[in-house]
Amino acid sequence: MASASETSPDPAGDPPDAPTESALETALRQLRSAADHLDVDANIVERLKHPTKVEEVTVPVARDDGTVEVFTGYRAQHDSVRGPYKGGLRYHPDVTRDECVGLAMWMTWKCAVMDLPFGGAKGGVAVDPKALSRAEKERLTRRFTQELRTVIGPNQDIPAPDMGTDPQTMAWVMDAYSMQEGETIPGVVTGKPPVVGGSEGRAEAPGRSVALITRLACEQYDRHLDETTVAVQGYGSVGANAARLLDEWGATVVAVSDVNGAMYDPDGIETAAVPSHDEEPEAVTTDADRVISNDELLTLDVDVLIPAALGNVITKANAEAVAADIVVEGANGPITSTADSLLAARDVAVLPDILANAGGVTVSYFEWLQDINRRAWSLERVNDELEAEMEAAWRAVRAEFERRDVTWREAAYIVALSRIADAHDARGLWP
Ligand code: NAD
Repeated sequence: MASASETSPDPAGDPPDAPTESALETALRQLRSAADHLDVDANIVERLKHPTKVEEVTVPVARDDGTVEVFTGYRAQHDSVRGPYKGGLRYHPDVTRDECVGLAMWMTWKCAVMDLPFGGAKGGVAVDPKALSRAEKERLTRRFTQELRTVIGPNQDIPAPDMGTDPQTMAWVMDAYSMQEGETIPGVVTGKPPVVGGSEGRAEAPGRSVALITRLACEQYDRHLDETTVAVQGYGSVGANAARLLDEWGATVVAVSDVNGAMYDPDGIETAAVPSHDEEPEAVTTDADRVISNDELLTLDVDVLIPAALGNVITKANAEAVAADIVVEGANGPITSTADSLLAARDVAVLPDILANAGGVTVSYFEWLQDINRRAWSLERVNDELEAEMEAAWRAVRAEFERRDVTWREAAYIVALSRIADAHDARGLWP
């Protein structure tokens, strides 16, 4: 099953190139950059530099061979001024406290730019999930849930899938939490399988939002989709869904890629016929007449480039060679801070991840609403409401973009910070 991350890094800053900038450094830099454009109370900015709480737990797990291994897990909760904390749980060896704090901050900005009634959180366990059997992963998840039980909940903090976790993991979280609480509480997590309260359209949502933002950006720059060429890096949950929708809406998708390279056809690829990562992993180039490298894909002379695989793929080294007029960030943080400045200097329109791939957390919000109301929505309703939310967020970001001399990224952060700061201002500080 596809992962369904809700997080988002990003850039906009000074040389030297900083592909290794940590999640926390990026989040703090973005906060400062947005605050510079706004008349925000410095005391509110000071509060936003710190998480509200970071829960650190140990998670003992009985391995299949009878030995016990103890892992470290975290849940960082950044800011809840606009509603319960929301964000993914990842299983990855590199999970650290600081990474969780930085990613939690990104979730605060992402939820705010989408105007969702949530704040930001992120958690995870420092573990290699590939080294665990299914039974071990289930035991780890249940014990981790128990350790976090006092800090999560449908009105408190709602986890979701992320790297190394999936809908099945969320079903185990829901079950463990519900068993302890003595009642079925589907709203404690999102990204669940639909059979236990997950939402239709959740897995496709980040790709759908990328396609919607691409379409809106093309309209903004007076480009008809049927005269627009697109290259997409990564053909997984985000990339394949975005590419197929844009193809369906009339765009010419000339290149799509996976880890092995890119299929390239200047006349247009029939995207439905190319297997996505979920359908058949790493098979994009299998039947391709013409294969190019991922590096070549990034510098193709297309109208729209959608990096939807990994972070930090557009760097100081290749930013000048990016020939697209519009770049839509499908992946989290695909552009380093220096590359972002270089693209901005050339007036390349970069639509930031916190807006473009926010379909995931938006449909998570719909899932939470469905769980609380005990009533499932149709796929059609999910997609219609997602489109409405994306258009509303687009209008808010575009208003700042047109009002100030800023990039799309800065405009998105300005929208997010204004909403959070206004909420803090209205609620005040408990003495
Ligand atoms: P996925 O695992 O479904 O697919 C990833 C794709 O990228 C695959 O086609 C894979 O072959 C390709 N890939 C891997 N390494 C590559 C490389 N070195 N060069 C080129 N292609 C490579 O992943 P996904 O869920 O589509 O996520 C992609 C990105 O989008 C990640 O940055 C993720 O954090 C972000 N994101 C995902 C979601 C979500 O809900 N799925 C939400 C927001 C952001």
